[in-house]
Amino acid sequence: MQLPLLPAAARAALLGLAVGDALGVPVEFQPRQARVLDPVTGMRAYGTHRQPAGTWSDDSSLTFCLAETLARPNGRTGMPDLGDFARRSINWLYHEYWTATNQTFDVGNATRIAIDRMQRGTAPSAAGPRSESDNGNGALMRILPLVFHDTWQAENLNLDAAWALTEAVASVTHGHPRSTLGCFLYLLVARGLLAGNSIGAAYEQMRQLAGPWLKNGSIPAVVEDRYYQAVLNGKLPGLEESNISSTGYVVHTLEAALWCLLKHDTYAATVLAAVNLGDDTDTTGAVAGGLAGLAYGEAGIPAGWLAVLARRADIESLAERLVGE
Ligand SMILES: [Mg+2]
Repeated sequence: MQLPLLPAAARAALLGLAVGDALGVPVEFQPRQARVLDPVTGMRAYGTHRQPAGTWSDDSSLTFCLAETLARPNGRTGMPDLGDFARRSINWLYHEYWTATNQTFDVGNATRIAIDRMQRGTAPSAAGPRSESDNGNGALMRILPLVFHDTWQAENLNLDAAWALTEAVASVTHGHPRSTLGCFLYLLVARGLLAGNSIGAAYEQMRQLAGPWLKNGSIPAVVEDRYYQAVLNGKLPGLEESNISSTGYVVHTLEAALWCLLKHDTYAATVLAAVNLGDDTDTTGAVAGGLAGLAYGEAGIPAGWLAVLARRADIESLAERLVGE
């Protein structure tokens, strides 16, 4: 038996992620101190990338590319067609595919290297840079649609299978196991929220499932769990903001997004907190926003933000196709 795949949940996840991204785009790269003096309270125009209000960036674009791949026939059963995802990613970077305003801007280093390699013929499974220094948040920021895959939706979740699937999809751009582990822990929380658990319960469930599995697992990646201790030891909700970093490092982004989710009780407060941490604002906003969308539903996202969100109808259509038969 599968957990229910509700189109409403897919819409909430994709819209929630894109709204968080769009809130962060105008202030990307600005430090936390700038947000202390001038906090983001809603959709802004221009700023860092000189885009109109409601413009989302690479985080949403590549999330939508993955959702398109999963929406294809049999895309949510078995191994997704990574060649299809590769073609869509190349089209995004060079031909404005799935962009907000017909303009591609904001691309991470590892992602650009991987897409360039695939354009020159490298297989998707070998494209992602995989050294320890290649652990930016570029796989984490686009991984959320994978929670709708049958492997992640199985009532009795097979963690080995879920890891293998996540590793394959993450590695197209980020081949180091630390990136996969960040995606894996994120998807565990997303799965719990999708099943209707509270945020606190979904976080605890992630720890209860991942902790023993990482301790007993035989995969080499288990050594990476030491980098996620703040997420795995259960003390994350008690940390002060000064202990939360919001750089583009995958570990920081997961910590920051989960911390914002655990500390707040509305969609708006969660994503604004994420953006106002500063630095990699759009990605922290997107990663937190996807989970907050699942937690609070589409109705929890402020209507005024959705009203200016670029390509809202296209995103909703994609969500319906993602979970359709
Ligand atoms: Mg971005």
